[in-house]
Amino acid sequence: MQEKLIRWYQDNHRDFPWRENDDPYRIWISEIMLQQTTTEAVIPYFERFMKVFPDVIALGKAPLDDVYKLWEGLGYYRRAKHLHETALLIKEKYDGHFPRDYQDILSLKGIGQYTAGAISSIAFHQCVPAVDGNVLRIISRLYLLDDNIALNKTQKKIYQIVEKLIQHQDASSFNQGLMDLGAMICRPLHPHCQLCPIQDDCQAYQHHQQDVLPVNIKKIRHQDIHYITGVITYQEKFLLLKNKEGLLENLYGFVQYDLESPYSFVERFHDEYGQDLQINCFIKDIKHVFTHRTWYMHIYHFELTQEMAGMYSLEQIAQLPISTAHQKVLKAFLKYQ
Ligand code: SF4
Repeated sequence: MQEKLIRWYQDNHRDFPWRENDDPYRIWISEIMLQQTTTEAVIPYFERFMKVFPDVIALGKAPLDDVYKLWEGLGYYRRAKHLHETALLIKEKYDGHFPRDYQDILSLKGIGQYTAGAISSIAFHQCVPAVDGNVLRIISRLYLLDDNIALNKTQKKIYQIVEKLIQHQDASSFNQGLMDLGAMICRPLHPHCQLCPIQDDCQAYQHHQQDVLPVNIKKIRHQDIHYITGVITYQEKFLLLKNKEGLLENLYGFVQYDLESPYSFVERFHDEYGQDLQINCFIKDIKHVFTHRTWYMHIYHFELTQEMAGMYSLEQIAQLPISTAHQKVLKAFLKYQ
């Protein structure tokens, strides 16, 4: 099975800019970008990132805001912060060379078992699994496993299976073969079994269970949050604050409070900043969906009676890293005007 998969990968693999060579830095950046994001969406981000930060030293030297700016729109911004911190650490602790040891790679911030496995196997040809959702699905089908792949114990079981399969193999082609097979052939819905290089080895196919497996029952608590979001202006400038923590840490955004009335917003703003606001008008309601929560942003335009710290012109705002949700707010305001 391994040989068939590896041969298929070598003849049919997808071409991506991060597959041009085995540079661990490029593989690391691409794997972090690919978490929760499609390959098509990642390609332009990856190319821009490589132009500005071609190596770990360049990334470590850059101001964090520049890294966020290039990440703008990719989401899950904590990834950008971890990349930057890790680049600094590699510069200091490993003299700018990406560590080769699996445990050293795994200890880096923002790198979990899957990413450490991908870097170790692709860049350093070490026989370690890189088990993501694609691999969980393929192995579940190959071995006719009816365990729920959303559970940790199933994920451990599948990791151990892959750990045995990968020994003495071309680990880079094997792991990337599984990635490509999952994306192109053994897809979540309607797998293309007729085109599959490992069809003969697949028990789900033999038992006509390929459209049933894997069992993947996730229990997610989804949270809805309603905000009054304030576009606060003074003359031609907008108030934007840098988030100190939370989901959008280090990104700039408009002031928003988990409140139900713009009048309460004015009171809260006064308590916090000692500044008076006038409510100018309601702009629009918008919705922004994250993985585990949805923001309902009820946008109002408020005016300050004097300028305060943290105010930016539109030209300055274009240079700041701003989350997609707050960019939508700005767009709605400018359209309203
Ligand atoms: S035969 Fe079908 S279900 Fe089995 S691994 Fe191939 S594509 Fe997936």
